[in-house]
Amino acid sequence: MLEIVWRSHGPIGAYQILAELSKEREKAAPPTVYRALEFLVGAGLVHRIDSLNAFMGCDEPGHAHVAQFLVCRACHRVAEIDDPALHRALAEKSRAMGFRIEPTSLEIKGLCGECAEVAG
Ligand SMILES: [Zn+2]
Ligand SMILES: [Zn+2]
Repeated sequence: MLEIVWRSHGPIGAYQILAELSKEREKAAPPTVYRALEFLVGAGLVHRIDSLNAFMGCDEPGHAHVAQFLVCRACHRVAEIDDPALHRALAEKSRAMGFRIEPTSLEIKGLCGECAEVAG
């Protein structure tokens, strides 16, 4: 299952993962897949992209981190920025406002290089 997320070059939805899984073996039950995804997200191997309701493999698994994502609104390509300085700056500002950030990801919308070129 991790391989399916890794294989896809970009975010993949839970239903796509289910479809891929059922191609490879017996039907996988959705709750099983969701549980497995939750585990992978918790382990830092996979990130959840809330705005796309999808998952993607982490570029730098193996260390706990809060990542930032550049999400292209046209082609839904996602690039991961893993910048601790960026996160620290955000965390400091938030703390100053009495707000505690939870270890979710930050998603930034825009156009990727290719789409920006097409858009002119
Ligand atoms: Zn990551
Ligand atoms: Zn794009």
